[in-house]
Amino acid sequence: MKSIIRIVSAGCVGLGIGVLGVAILPAQTTSAAEAHRAAAKAAAGKDHPGLLAALCPEPSARGAAPARAAAAPAGQRGQAPAAAAPRPAPPREQWHAEPVKVFDNLYWLGQTEYSVWAVTTSAGIIVIDTIFDYSVEDEVVGGMKKLGLDPANIKYVLVSHGHGDHSGGAKFLQDTFHARVLLSPQDWDLLDRSNGTRPARDMVVTDGQKLTLGDTTLTMYITPGHTAGTISTLIPVKDRGTPHVVAEWGGTLIGGLRTPEGFQTYINSAERFRDIVTRAGADVIVSNHTNYDGSKVKLPAVLRRGPNDPNPYVIGKDAVQRYLTVADECAKAGQAELTSSQTSAPPR
Ligand SMILES: [Zn+2]
Repeated sequence: MKSIIRIVSAGCVGLGIGVLGVAILPAQTTSAAEAHRAAAKAAAGKDHPGLLAALCPEPSARGAAPARAAAAPAGQRGQAPAAAAPRPAPPREQWHAEPVKVFDNLYWLGQTEYSVWAVTTSAGIIVIDTIFDYSVEDEVVGGMKKLGLDPANIKYVLVSHGHGDHSGGAKFLQDTFHARVLLSPQDWDLLDRSNGTRPARDMVVTDGQKLTLGDTTLTMYITPGHTAGTISTLIPVKDRGTPHVVAEWGGTLIGGLRTPEGFQTYINSAERFRDIVTRAGADVIVSNHTNYDGSKVKLPAVLRRGPNDPNPYVIGKDAVQRYLTVADECAKAGQAELTSSQTSAPPR
């Protein structure tokens, strides 16, 4: 039974928190898990359906393929783990997406399923996450040029965590533009253990550290749970001159060992970052996966936006905090089910 429960997910494309290889649960813990799932559903409301589907799949979908893997183009399925053997690059038509300027100083430069965010400052550009080695040049360099930015101005590359779908392009940006690359110490170690394309070890992020470039300061927090050193970040932006605070939740699915302690680590991080975004007054939440933060809907809405329309990414402080409540409650549901399955497993 342990071999079924303790699934190790090395990359972003893993199992949702609620998906366990468990068929029968005692009624008491099932109801505890269901209560957490109901709380997650209430917190998601109409704002966060993608996150809810990924982290708290409907019972009918459980045991089936994770929702986001099913939604990904064929060429992107199963490509996330840094530890996975290198695969041939999928055809461009399966992953290419056009870049979008979302705020005055925040640009989306991703591919269909994955996001890169570029922050422009008075002294250069900070890139957050780098997608894959096969797509970084097309989407990040090509995307910047299409939007009138000069990729030679990339000064820093902040990698949220050491999975290949976010770190694979960092080496190219490091080698080509001599950008400084930042990861947590835990995820530099994770990259060292991988056999994917990875940058040379550079800057090490500590919890609460600030990264200032010109007139802009990001604040980075170590929020373990998806990986041991996942970084979540606060980004000040302006929308047609009006200031807003963007929060990026750097790792969404629970990762590593699926133990009660692993779930608790994720729960602690979600609750802590919820407190951080509350204090910061964050009114925008973004992800590095387009399914989770609604980017597949919001990016086209940004392009259609009229002169008097609100920015679709500005969802308000309450909705930002509820995003992290969804993560928190789904992790609690998964933890309740795991604890139940371990205590109810027959003796071996
Ligand atoms: Zn990941």
